[in-house]
Amino acid sequence: MVVEEKNIIRIVKGTILRTNYGTLGASTSTLIYDEGKRILVDVGHYGTRLRLEENLKNSGLSPNSIDYVILTHLNWDHCANIDLFEKSRIFLHKREWEEGNLFGKEDLATKTFKQMLERMKLSIINDDMFKVTENVYTINTFGHTVGHISVLAKSEKGNIIISGDAVPYYRTIKRGYPDIIFYNRDEARKSVSKVTELKPIKIIPGHGPPFNEKGYIEKDEIEIRLVGDDGEDLILKLNRVGEEVATGPIG
Ligand SMILES: [Zn+2]
Repeated sequence: MVVEEKNIIRIVKGTILRTNYGTLGASTSTLIYDEGKRILVDVGHYGTRLRLEENLKNSGLSPNSIDYVILTHLNWDHCANIDLFEKSRIFLHKREWEEGNLFGKEDLATKTFKQMLERMKLSIINDDMFKVTENVYTINTFGHTVGHISVLAKSEKGNIIISGDAVPYYRTIKRGYPDIIFYNRDEARKSVSKVTELKPIKIIPGHGPPFNEKGYIEKDEIEIRLVGDDGEDLILKLNRVGEEVATGPIG
């Protein structure tokens, strides 16, 4: 048996929005059903917490019904909601556990966060191609961070990779390495090659819609809202290929 493509679901869609006020990012959370297990790859930060809970609920699930959580790495935008998953087994790579951190450097928040993880059902991975379930493996994709991992799901149509920030969006494939590297550029570059050498039919990245070697295969409309003075918000909708979908005030 293989995992069916329809059983690999972006439960939270990730994006990065660069503005003159700063960067707003949300990481992708991907749900995989394989061999009776429910696996969640990355859990996002507080800005997507309600969305994650709501979308799980709409799929008939709750955090308590997730068997396994795989954290691609410990950057805060991918893991801050982990406290919701106290019943789940959590997988994290040894290098990330030992040297990874929330904000790109060792700090007090990371120390506290790791103390919380220690009290949860944590499994430390030390192998490449670690088997999570029959058709789901973690693969080492170090570089963006010290112990970053991606997830390989063997579907009926071919390999699907949930790449986290080893490949945060499509442009990374063209450039050969991710824009943001906290650990090591050579390793990050090798990790991008490693992902493409697996000839994935689809990559579900950390911060954008799924794509294949030709480009995005979903458009992901983004809605930007400014809170208005009199109850009406100003709204701009864009899709990933840069088309303005809608603009104007809404009630
Ligand atoms: Zn990220």
